[in-house]
Amino acid sequence: MTISTDTLIVGAGPCGLFQVFELGLLDLSAHVIDALPQIGGQCSELYPDKPIYDIPGFPSVGAGELVDRLMQQIKPFNPTFHLGQQVDLVERQGNGRFRVTTTAGQEFSTKAVIIAGGVGAFQPVLLRIDGVEKYHDSQVFYRVRDPERHYGKRVVILGGGDSALDWALQLAGKADTLTLVHRSANFKAAPAAVSRFQELVGAGTARMILGSVMGFEEADGRLKALEVREIDQSMQQIELDHVLVFFGLSPKLGPIADWGLTLNKHQIEVSTETFETSVPGIYAIGDISWYPGKKKLILSGFHEAALAAFAIKHQLFPDQKVYLQYTTTSSSVHRKLGLTDPT
Ligand code: FAD
Repeated sequence: MTISTDTLIVGAGPCGLFQVFELGLLDLSAHVIDALPQIGGQCSELYPDKPIYDIPGFPSVGAGELVDRLMQQIKPFNPTFHLGQQVDLVERQGNGRFRVTTTAGQEFSTKAVIIAGGVGAFQPVLLRIDGVEKYHDSQVFYRVRDPERHYGKRVVILGGGDSALDWALQLAGKADTLTLVHRSANFKAAPAAVSRFQELVGAGTARMILGSVMGFEEADGRLKALEVREIDQSMQQIELDHVLVFFGLSPKLGPIADWGLTLNKHQIEVSTETFETSVPGIYAIGDISWYPGKKKLILSGFHEAALAAFAIKHQLFPDQKVYLQYTTTSSSVHRKLGLTDPT
């Protein structure tokens, strides 16, 4: 079913979230799409526990907390989120609207598109061994959607970051066997998680191998074993049913590069008055937008979201005069925010 909306935001990072607020103040509702399974963009994916020191009014705020506060701030405007799906196509239709489709097969019809895609959609770094791709989603997984699917299986987890260790801890004892393979003794994961996993290894509940995957063995059309070269150069074969690969995520501009927009390297050129791109009706804010002097900072994206909202309001309602209203004193804004006593 096609979802019809006034505005569609591509990217649920901090700037995409604040865009919902600025559109809401002008009575425009929004649907928000993100390739990741959670909101917050880089703040949630890359540094949720780190403090940020240059958000106006917050001497220090954790990146995860900033996302929580943005969610609280936009709640009155009730945005609809479509997570875990990448926008792959944006095309103008004859009626002046845009048809937008996602990798989950969802289709939208919208009057304005705001690209808040940051540095691109985060995609898992793949296990680069020729031929292994045919086992994606049957025996090789880059994301755990349903943990129970791995219960009772011989599971091999590749990687040494938080995701690898978290899933190793969760699946140890539930999988038939669990082996963690990491290329060195230096783990990026939280030290407490590494120590807990080492306790499980000591108790014989899990195995840890320091080495790199060099190849694989197949039998009867199934992935049978991984060939691992240990750091002392000896080779090992690990028999398995499922491999979970957690080599991290890398951002890819991906399909955005094919939407006919004028790019400056990996960013989208915009007008600094409206934040409209070279395609009328498509706007870009946050890290993905480019103009002379652009700085990839959250506060720049907040400013850009405010001006884009006014431009979109004018695009959709050209005959309507739009006044700037102070949130402090405007009773109409207070009504929109659901405030009865704004003092
Ligand atoms: P992002 O946060 O990158 O979010 C974009 C979202 O769009 C992503 O979730 C992505 O999955 C999604 N997306 C992209 N393409 C698609 C698609 N085709 N379909 C669906 N979804 C898509 N900034 C500061 O101001 N102060 C700091 O102190 C600071 N510290 C930082 C520390 C670190 C370690 C890092 C990595 C960054 C830091 N930054 C800081 C930068 C800040 O995080 C970014 O400026 C900010 O996240 C940009 O927000 P955004 O909403 O534009 O994009």
